[in-house]
Amino acid sequence: MHDVVIIGAGHNGLVCSAYLAMAGLNVLVLDQRPIAGGAAVTEEFSPGFFNSTAAYAVSLLNPKIIRDLDLGGHGLKIVARPISNFLPLGDQGFLKVGGGQTKREVAKFSSRDADRLDEYQTRLRAIADVLRASVLETPPNVVAGSPLAAIAEFLKAGRVANRIRALGLDLQRDLLDLFTASAGDFLDGWFESAPIKAAFGFDSVVGNYASPYTPGSAYVLLHHSFGEVNGKRGVWGHAIGGMGAITQAMAKAAAAHGVEIRLSTGVRKVLVEKGRALGVETERGEVICASAVAAGINPKLLYLQLVDASALPEDFRRRTANWRCGSGTFRMNVALSELPDFSVLPGHQAAEHHASGIIIAPHLAYMEQAYFDARSLGWSRRPIVELVIPSTLDSTLAPKGQHVASLFCQHVAPQLPGGISWDDCRETVADLMIETVNEHAPNFKRSVLARQIFSPLDLERTFGMTGGDIFHGRLDLGQIFSARPMLGHADYRGPLAGLYLCGSGGHPGGGVTGASGHNAAREILRDFRRKRIAKAR
Ligand SMILES: Cc1cc2nc3c(=O)[nH]c(=O)nc-3n(C[C@H](O)[C@H](O)[C@H](O)COP(=O)(O)OP(=O)(O)OC[C@H]3O[C@@H](n4cnc5c(N)ncnc54)[C@H](O)[C@@H]3O)c2cc1C
Repeated sequence: MHDVVIIGAGHNGLVCSAYLAMAGLNVLVLDQRPIAGGAAVTEEFSPGFFNSTAAYAVSLLNPKIIRDLDLGGHGLKIVARPISNFLPLGDQGFLKVGGGQTKREVAKFSSRDADRLDEYQTRLRAIADVLRASVLETPPNVVAGSPLAAIAEFLKAGRVANRIRALGLDLQRDLLDLFTASAGDFLDGWFESAPIKAAFGFDSVVGNYASPYTPGSAYVLLHHSFGEVNGKRGVWGHAIGGMGAITQAMAKAAAAHGVEIRLSTGVRKVLVEKGRALGVETERGEVICASAVAAGINPKLLYLQLVDASALPEDFRRRTANWRCGSGTFRMNVALSELPDFSVLPGHQAAEHHASGIIIAPHLAYMEQAYFDARSLGWSRRPIVELVIPSTLDSTLAPKGQHVASLFCQHVAPQLPGGISWDDCRETVADLMIETVNEHAPNFKRSVLARQIFSPLDLERTFGMTGGDIFHGRLDLGQIFSARPMLGHADYRGPLAGLYLCGSGGHPGGGVTGASGHNAAREILRDFRRKRIAKAR
């Protein structure tokens, strides 16, 4: 008998387990995959070539979690990119963002936009700070019944309101826009030249199956801005050894505190009696009893597949079935014989642009068309591709002189129209992604030595990401903060006693943050302290 059994050794499950074990609980983590880390893992996808299999860039990982779990002491080292982004623009040349060059680069297209950059960044940063301050807090929960509980939630809401009030009216207006408007409208209000809007707008379509002009997409842009690398806010970096270095460090930290991690052990059922979770049953039929169960998996997967329908309130089930899931994401890893030689910035010797996030999407209208195409055809004829070549920063990933690259591509339809299966189109779409990069770097196609492909269906099959949703559920106003995963359940507790959500389906949502795992652990420990759950004997 365990105090807590955790379903899923994704990074959130691992973080949750470590905090629980640090507080003295006996914790078991189970994962269906043979490797811990969920979507944040490094694997050898072709002999001698290693890469972050799915998630590939680090920024959102919370510094408190890095410290508390001593991830540095367990081998984690994160490095910043020399510049953030490089956008090849065909006839128009290119745009570089970051590394102290943004103003000069943007001025190539509009001096007015260059002059506005500082103010834009300052304002976005101020609002991202408010978001950052709430990341490790349990959102105010809407509670029915107990007046005392309602008062506690009211106080929490007051704390958030105070932070927002401190912004001042002007920034509050920006905040309202960032939570409700489209990224396109927001950026059009700031800038006139297309390339900088594309560079910033890319964040609004990452994992978000939407046009940058879809209302609410500005929030996704903001969500990608609350991170930091080694104390530098708003930038993205690389974990030496790939994203698996993060989760291996987490797994080591958890194990050092006594957590048992059992791999290749899928869970097929949460055992429930009289409205309380009592443990789990594995795919192999083993029954594991625990005082509490926490799940680091998509809420839909947990409540619609692992919990018996008769154990849940009908309304809760119906709403969970309507949980909006499905990213427009197609992910590839490629082994390369040489670096891409971009027509607009020739040379295939490593340069700063090779070590950045290379965005192929020159303007917001291109991104919008990509979405429209995917809606009607299943994938965009001219997709949005971010190419990241981590071996330019990390010699552990590829043989000397060769490279590995991540292709993070949007938009594709989570489910193809006309009942067509992704199994029949995977290779065609992978060819299209390579061609798309090749248009800008004509040596790219012939430099590809091997490739690994994840369609939305593959992401679902491999990682249990329902609809290929990289965030475990859309980040829109109806599914964030107090409404994540559902109004009344934002405190990581569901309708069943002793069953908690500790994955990205809870606040603050997707990305390698560790925050949902951290926050869920705090709530679980609170219930142990209040004797709502009894420690196992
Ligand atoms: C292609 C892609 C690219 C991404 N890029 C980035 C990025 O660059 N940076 C970033 O910060 N974020 C990125 N993300 C998002 C980020 O990876 C996820 O939001 C994050 O990994 C979610 O972590 P998690 O611990 O909540 O869940 P997951 O990582 O999804 O882990 C859940 C775990 O549960 C296991 N599981 C599921 N069902 C069962 C079961 N029945 N029994 C046992 N185990 C089960 C799975 O095997 C998995 O290991 C990306 C995601 C994807 C898919």
